Amino acid sequence: MSTTPAPEQSAQSHDRFEAVVNLTKRRGFVFPSAEIYGGLRSSYDYGPLGTLMLRNLKDAWWRAMVQERDDVVPIDAAILTNPRVWEASGHLSTFTDPLVDCRNCKERLRADHLENGVCPNCGSTDLTEARPFNLMFKTFVGPVEDDAAVAYLRPETAQGMFVNFANVLTTTRRRPPFGIAQIGRSFRNEITPGNFVFRTREFEQMEMEFFCHPDEAEQWHRYWCEERMAWYLRYGMPASLLRLRPHDKDELAHYAAASSDVEFLFPWGWGELEGIANRTDFDLRAHSEHSGVRLEYFDQATGERFTPYVIEPAAGATRAMMAFLLAAYDEDEIGGERRTVLRLHPRLAPYQVAVLPLSRKENLAQLARDVHARLRRRFICDYDDTQSIGRRYRRQDEIGTPWCVTVDFDSLEDDAVTIRDRDSTDQRRVPIAGLVAEIAALVGD
Ligand code: ATP
Repeated sequence: MSTTPAPEQSAQSHDRFEAVVNLTKRRGFVFPSAEIYGGLRSSYDYGPLGTLMLRNLKDAWWRAMVQERDDVVPIDAAILTNPRVWEASGHLSTFTDPLVDCRNCKERLRADHLENGVCPNCGSTDLTEARPFNLMFKTFVGPVEDDAAVAYLRPETAQGMFVNFANVLTTTRRRPPFGIAQIGRSFRNEITPGNFVFRTREFEQMEMEFFCHPDEAEQWHRYWCEERMAWYLRYGMPASLLRLRPHDKDELAHYAAASSDVEFLFPWGWGELEGIANRTDFDLRAHSEHSGVRLEYFDQATGERFTPYVIEPAAGATRAMMAFLLAAYDEDEIGGERRTVLRLHPRLAPYQVAVLPLSRKENLAQLARDVHARLRRRFICDYDDTQSIGRRYRRQDEIGTPWCVTVDFDSLEDDAVTIRDRDSTDQRRVPIAGLVAEIAALVGD
């Protein structure tokens, strides 16, 4: 299957990519990590707006995957854990990417990302043979740096769910089908990080392991593919930029019976946002064998004992944030003036509302602060009283704030304010008494 977008789309997308990267830096979504020291290659710090958006995105996942379901429970497992976990899961022996060195420019490259065996840095074809490179970050626990103290930063959150399977089963009295969900940081010593936050060495994952009867695994795999595609659409991802791509048999990981990727059309082509795999009973069996603890389910109703199969929707939070930003970026013209606008879903936008007093005069400022205080109990709100109202609207449009609430001198008389819509720029007057309910209805789901 081709991964290359049509040339015109790609050209447009490259401009868009540049524009989005600039915007995220300029407005405080994402900064190069420790920039005052020259940064660290492909490490990023999330600024005030990026932190809000990333949190909103994780909340949106949490709502759909945990809060709105009665068959999924959450956990929060340690990043540093017993290294035998990684021995059992196969990460120590097989979590590798093929590494090649360019003999000409000394660049280190991922062999499976090369086009026609050419070094993308200098164009040379004088490359070493590929050799496996383990992606796990190694460290030492405690003061002695010897083999017995070796530990790894987790390269995925999933294993936390498998090793806690029995604990969750007994403490929550769940029975398959049920899932365990977790959001957290993962670390991979990627050979070629890049494309902004698409591929970084430290990133955040949103993963869920859904344990079911082996006979029902195929059906649940289809179900989760549909659910996860629907989630991206629910939060405003255009269907034209999204696709579900089933893996070919030769692409499948050794433990998977089937896998499909949710892909987004990035400027450089289709790229994975999330993998949805049928991991079979591989992980539970492996941990049973290595730990000596039976990780099975005994169904008292039928008398059947079985090792559940696992369906895993595994998404990247930071990668998804970038895709939502790329999809939301737009430029248009309002009243003869060009503006930049992020058409983000209200649940993902850093701020849902901004309160803008028309003037800083004390009586108006007092009322505006009062309106702000009411709104911020329910919504993430900004307050901006600097510069002209037009410039303030533009600033909010550029960071995706769906509604601006303007407090003007009439507000002192009629106890009403103006709500301005980001996308249409339409304005309408609403009583302050009903404002919170009004915005809640607008935010909707
Ligand atoms: P890729 O093929 O892009 O390396 P993967 O198939 O190894 O990804 P998974 O192990 O399935 O990725 O991880 C699940 C999700 O975690 C991915 O779909 C992606 O969104 C995210 N992810 C994985 N590696 C990274 C990374 N280095 N930086 C940012 N996000 C990542």
